[in-house]
Amino acid sequence: MPEPAAPRAPHVVILGAGFGGLQAALSLRHAPVRVTLVDRRNHHLFQPLLYQVATAALSPADIAYPIRSILRHQGNADVILGEAVSVDPDRRELRLADGVLPYDYLVLAAGATHAYFGHEDWEAEAPGLKNLDDALEIRRRILLAFEAADRETDPARRKALLTFVIVGAGPTGVELAGAIGEISRHVLVDDFRHIDPREARIELLEAGPRILAPFSERSARRAETALRERGVAVRVSSPVTQVDADGVTVGVNADGRSVGVNADGRSVGVNADGRSVGANAGGKPVGGERIAAKTVLWAAGVAASPIAQGLGGTLDRSGRIEVAPDLSIAGHPEIFVIGDLALYKHQDGRPLPGVSPVAIQQGRYAARAILARLQGRTLPPFRYFDKGILAVIGRGSAVADIAGLRLGGLLAWMTWCFVHIFYLIGFRNRFVVMFEWAWAYATYQRGARLITGNIDEYLEKGDPPAGTR
Ligand SMILES: Cc1cc2nc3c(=O)[nH]c(=O)nc-3n(C[C@H](O)[C@H](O)[C@H](O)COP(=O)(O)OP(=O)(O)OC[C@H]3O[C@@H](n4cnc5c(N)ncnc54)[C@H](O)[C@@H]3O)c2cc1C
Repeated sequence: MPEPAAPRAPHVVILGAGFGGLQAALSLRHAPVRVTLVDRRNHHLFQPLLYQVATAALSPADIAYPIRSILRHQGNADVILGEAVSVDPDRRELRLADGVLPYDYLVLAAGATHAYFGHEDWEAEAPGLKNLDDALEIRRRILLAFEAADRETDPARRKALLTFVIVGAGPTGVELAGAIGEISRHVLVDDFRHIDPREARIELLEAGPRILAPFSERSARRAETALRERGVAVRVSSPVTQVDADGVTVGVNADGRSVGVNADGRSVGVNADGRSVGANAGGKPVGGERIAAKTVLWAAGVAASPIAQGLGGTLDRSGRIEVAPDLSIAGHPEIFVIGDLALYKHQDGRPLPGVSPVAIQQGRYAARAILARLQGRTLPPFRYFDKGILAVIGRGSAVADIAGLRLGGLLAWMTWCFVHIFYLIGFRNRFVVMFEWAWAYATYQRGARLITGNIDEYLEKGDPPAGTR
């Protein structure tokens, strides 16, 4: 058993074992502190590959790893499976649903989840992708849609079953759309007897003026071409104004033109107050185009964890809390906030994006800052080293903006594979994912095409199977 830390050593509580929190815990392994890492899940999740679980390319265990296993040799670290509900900064306590955890230093790394901009009722019809449960639910819906279409005899209902709408064309939306395109055009083609899966319609809807907003124009154009080659219809300036069990409505003006973009070229899909509009200048809804679809997926926005609310700092629209140059919060130098929950601005005033390298580098920095405090030193401000961004569209196709280079096609795809294998935790995961990708590349097969959960809804909706009486 590893040597535990001295009982009187300063107590560092870390909330969240995602990219930021886990890195902070690991970086404190030689520090004279006691570390307690709290998470509501027992595993660290590699979110950038979630869409591969959602589209049946990988299994859940390939992209997740038990937190206790990661820290098993780190004697000064303990793990608590629990739900944090609030912070009491005056008493220096993290409150859990079933207990209280006192701290000397607190690192908040609780991340973000998807946001529906005031339309939380859309979530049931348009699930987002944030954790393994979401990924399995999306996988279930996609595969069940093909099953239901295969037994459906009414052409309009069959068309709706074979229509997949993805709302939001950031990296996650693009990756989901590209993967569904490949499933319908390649993976499933020979598997059904009553439908041609290639007839599936995949609609990628984006409220803003272009897809992949964080990428260069060139990479976005490249990605759009690659998506169209996979049968994905890409619509920009197309804010979704309604989601229900039968599909979505896309906002259009009285003159029939999309209201996705203002005269000044800015998206109006979402108001400054974060609410969806689909309305004209007078604030009245102006109707829109209806897309009948039985599968709608949400990749349109994120909201930071609510845990930092009430700490007194400034929050931005998505609920991120503004942090000082050393990642601590105003008035509480012992509380650090990192990753997707933090709003950190470099001198140019632009906030850092919610991506894993930011969380990892901030986790490392917060650990160093705590150590420096214990030694009576101060660190220079946090600086982000930008390694670039990548998005994959499908087999052999990706885009990458790295160090001023705009990569596309196979080269970008290989870079994407390499980076994701490299950062996966666990040798088994790296090996299995490498094998799965090589297999999928050679055969176009997706090994995890399993429908889990209940199929009652599908049985209710569909016709009796062909050949039955
Ligand atoms: C589908 C998807 C695809 C992505 N693709 C990419 C990509 O390709 N490249 C990239 O760089 N980034 C990508 N990201 C973003 C990246 O995953 C995040 O920026 C990163 O995970 C942020 O790290 P974090 O530590 O701040 O939070 P997270 O990694 O989200 O970790 C937060 C942790 O806190 C826990 N937690 C939250 N609230 C509580 C609570 N109240 N009590 C207990 N535990 C709690 C959660 O269970 C979780 O383990 C993607 C994100 C998603 C969702």
